[in-house]
Amino acid sequence: MNDIKIDQKLIDKLEKIPDPGELMAELFRLFGKRAAIGTSGQWTGVAMIDMVIRAGISNPRVYTVDTLRLFPETYDLFRELEKKYSIKIEKAAPDFDAVSKMVRDHGESIFFDSKAKQEYCCKIRKVDPNNKILDTLDVWITGLRADQSDARSQIKRLEIIQHTQQDGKNRPLLKVTPLIAWTEEKVKEYVSTNNVPTHKLLEMERDGWHYASLGCIICTTPINSHEDRRAGRWRWFNHQQFNDDHKECGLHLTGKKKST
Ligand code: SF4
Repeated sequence: MNDIKIDQKLIDKLEKIPDPGELMAELFRLFGKRAAIGTSGQWTGVAMIDMVIRAGISNPRVYTVDTLRLFPETYDLFRELEKKYSIKIEKAAPDFDAVSKMVRDHGESIFFDSKAKQEYCCKIRKVDPNNKILDTLDVWITGLRADQSDARSQIKRLEIIQHTQQDGKNRPLLKVTPLIAWTEEKVKEYVSTNNVPTHKLLEMERDGWHYASLGCIICTTPINSHEDRRAGRWRWFNHQQFNDDHKECGLHLTGKKKST
């Protein structure tokens, strides 16, 4: 465990570093492997990996939550990133027994049944594996952006959240969102200029249909240009008047509402 205190003093110090790559580099220098970039392989995640390596960190800790239902193109991208940057992307997989029980009790496609069952599936396949990784971290670096949704526009660049460990103990964790204020266009410009490997599905477009956000197969569909950015996630719930949080899988509701 690192003995640097996760407090407002630390945030005040880090706020003085405006450049996202330099900010992440400082975090890795301070916290080593107790800091990690969590990514699902979308625009911001790949940009952050490139930025921190350019800022001088040769082997930053990077992980993804592997729900075992990701698109083949997602796995291809991780392999490409590993090769290009000489990094190893850790895969946080769900607990085998918990998935087996869920499938035995509710079937393979539980997420179609109700919002509660979709959240249960996301908890088993995403939130719990992510929490296991958070148990090993003091600094969680995420690729959220304010322009992704109303809920995400409230997220701060640096914030202290309370993490509940597997053993039930609570402790502060620094959640960092270096590109929170960047637009998607700005991130795309960065990855194009710097030749960063990108997700093939995010590059595709036909008659206005494209992917704006990627998660698991089946639960993610393309959207049309008139649709909300997260309309392709769990599309079958779109007719219900849920608020923004209900288009979240629960990973980023820590400290607000947690999926059950
Ligand atoms: S996105 Fe779908 S398949 Fe993936 S964890 Fe959530 S409900 Fe389950």
